[in-house]
Amino acid sequence: MRLDDRVTALDGVGPKLASRLEDGLGIRTIRDLVAHYPRKFHDAGEVLDLSQVVEGQAATLLGEVLGWETKWLPKKGRKRPLEVAEGRVRQASGAVFTVTFFNQNWRAQRLPAGTVAAFSGTVKRFRSTLKLTTPDVQELGRVAAGVDPDAAAERLAHQRLLSVYAAVDGLPSGKIAELVEAALEALPPFDDWLSESWLDAQDLMDLDAAVRAIHAPPDVPTRDAARRRLVFDELFTLQLGLQWRRARLEADTVGQDNAPVAGGRAAAFLDALPFAPTGAQQRSFEALGEDLGAARPMHRLLQGDVGSGKTVVAVWTMLNAVDRGRQAAMMVPTEVLAEQHHRTLTQLLAPLGVNVLDGIRVEVLTSSSTTAQRRRILGEMLTGDVDLVVGTHALLEEGVRFADLGLVVIDEQHRFGVSQRLQLKDKATGAGHGRAVLPDVLVMTATPIPRSLSLTLYGDLDVTVLDELPPGRIPITTQLITPREEVRRDKLYAFVREQAAAGFGTYIVCPFVEDSDVLPGRSAVTEHQRLSDEVFPDLAVELVHGQMRTDDKDAAMARFRAGEAQVLVATTVIEVGVDVPHATVMVIEDAERFGISQLHQLRGRVGRSGDRSFCVLFAGWSASLGDEALERLRAVAATTDGFELAETDLDIRGAGQLFGKRQSGLPDLKLAHLRRDLAVIGTTRDLAREVVAADPDLTDPANAPLREQVLRTYEGGLDAFAVLETG
Ligand code: ADP
Ligand code: MG
Repeated sequence: MRLDDRVTALDGVGPKLASRLEDGLGIRTIRDLVAHYPRKFHDAGEVLDLSQVVEGQAATLLGEVLGWETKWLPKKGRKRPLEVAEGRVRQASGAVFTVTFFNQNWRAQRLPAGTVAAFSGTVKRFRSTLKLTTPDVQELGRVAAGVDPDAAAERLAHQRLLSVYAAVDGLPSGKIAELVEAALEALPPFDDWLSESWLDAQDLMDLDAAVRAIHAPPDVPTRDAARRRLVFDELFTLQLGLQWRRARLEADTVGQDNAPVAGGRAAAFLDALPFAPTGAQQRSFEALGEDLGAARPMHRLLQGDVGSGKTVVAVWTMLNAVDRGRQAAMMVPTEVLAEQHHRTLTQLLAPLGVNVLDGIRVEVLTSSSTTAQRRRILGEMLTGDVDLVVGTHALLEEGVRFADLGLVVIDEQHRFGVSQRLQLKDKATGAGHGRAVLPDVLVMTATPIPRSLSLTLYGDLDVTVLDELPPGRIPITTQLITPREEVRRDKLYAFVREQAAAGFGTYIVCPFVEDSDVLPGRSAVTEHQRLSDEVFPDLAVELVHGQMRTDDKDAAMARFRAGEAQVLVATTVIEVGVDVPHATVMVIEDAERFGISQLHQLRGRVGRSGDRSFCVLFAGWSASLGDEALERLRAVAATTDGFELAETDLDIRGAGQLFGKRQSGLPDLKLAHLRRDLAVIGTTRDLAREVVAADPDLTDPANAPLREQVLRTYEGGLDAFAVLETG
């Protein structure tokens, strides 16, 4: 038998079982089957035959369920009688014992006659019968589905740790265990893709031993060692793939020298800032400066919590390209942000002169630019008259050309992948001596990504973290208000009025644009009406949401920014990047409808100056508050540290949900756990970097097994690895 054989190569696996394996669990080949690792392990205790059982002691008894009897026992003081389900179970030896459950008749339904199961609990004697009362149950399979109680007992007898597999209807864990066992028996020893010296250096179990031990571990230490080896494999394969992909992408490209120039405009920009850069900003200038001058194109991720000052870093980085006579582009996800960044850039660069002779030419290009504007700007980008351009994804469109694009900054965007980066090849037209020129790329995100996740998602990016806020910031005070505290809503409105009188602005965020019958919750349109008519008739209340015309949105934002309006009712269109320093109150309605990172981003719209700021979360006003929602909201109220919140989020929801798998390119990790295995993520990344640095295309015969392993693992599937297939 070989790993690439179909599962039908196993005795007793016909087309029906094969399609069940494939449809239910995605298992097609023997390789898939042995890579279907146990989901968990059940410590079965000692599996005993009835003759060995000592009354009053814990034991696991195993057998085939013969049938159930349900009785109702009247109970004193209770209206409902007690429901007693008693099952008879026959051991392989033929001896019968009973198991009893109270008010758990579903147990009986789950374990119909013919089910083979292990029952663990304390053994009692009742008349001549031995019985287990409310034992732990481990269902092993059905006799009808081909599970042999004798074989199951035999297996259990040797194995205290019972492997529990992810199972589906008609394919119970016990049946899968049988198939895996049969496959492992028929397979020759596994070739190890890691050499002896690797195994020694990393202190790893060999592959053959690890695969066999993870399915049927003799004891806990062996299981853990097996797991460690297989986790290493998963993460090392991933990191090798990421590094190799980057090497391939850069193989037929060259970077540009955008290293800082002494006395250049980047330096002048820093000199002219009204504040001193924070230590973290300073460190990022150093890291970026090196990247900009390096021969290989920069690809760096700048992570910084809201308000940590990423914009200054972005502007400085772009000016370095301008100092080299090149152009820089900044790509943002929405038009609101494009307009705002354009305004910010213009302000920040004012001391250097903007759009004046000898100054810096800054333009903004969005889909609401008029045809004439667009034609003019595109023309000037092509001639090189424009130095900096801000825009949405439209900047990547065909037909958008630069004279000499040196650098691209991508803001608030973790969806910028390899394929987009490849599109940039066509944008830079500088001399590459036959090789494509790749502009330097700086990706910025305000979504704090736990280190474990960023090393996995962005294993091929260099990462810089702005882990320091500008001095003088006062932490935002956050309060959670539930409907029981109704009076606090009125107090809040009075407070908003006070803040307005002192010149401060308030955001009120609603989950929906308009009321709907389906989803209960406040809508921006209705809240805007209510607040302006009934609550704040004396204030100017503006409205922004995604379905408004751009002009109207901009006008409303402008009035709020200028302080002409004191209250802004909005949807999450204001979630990222909006910067109005005098806004100090963030009110979030139906806060349970938002995720942790969204709440954190929204809250980051206030606290952007030296003035004390407040965030109020209204929760449970339109729907009941579940435990998980409450946990989330409490976490947000408890800290303003985005990285801490991201870790909490990762714990509550898991990585797959944090970043959709497709979107993130996060591969399916079977055993590796991002937090628990953080150290292994770091180790494997460093090792992979060493390997690829020495052998960029993995062509060294000594690396052939590594190459094969990566290609096999990511064959055909993973978006993120598209380059491997096409390149
Ligand atoms: P981010 O984009 O990371 O959320 P911004 O770049 O918008 O943060 O910066 C937030 C505010 O802090 C801006 O008003 C900016 O001018 C200001 N700022 C940035 N760096 C500093 C600094 N070193 N000292 C004081 N204020 C700063
Ligand atoms: Mg920003």
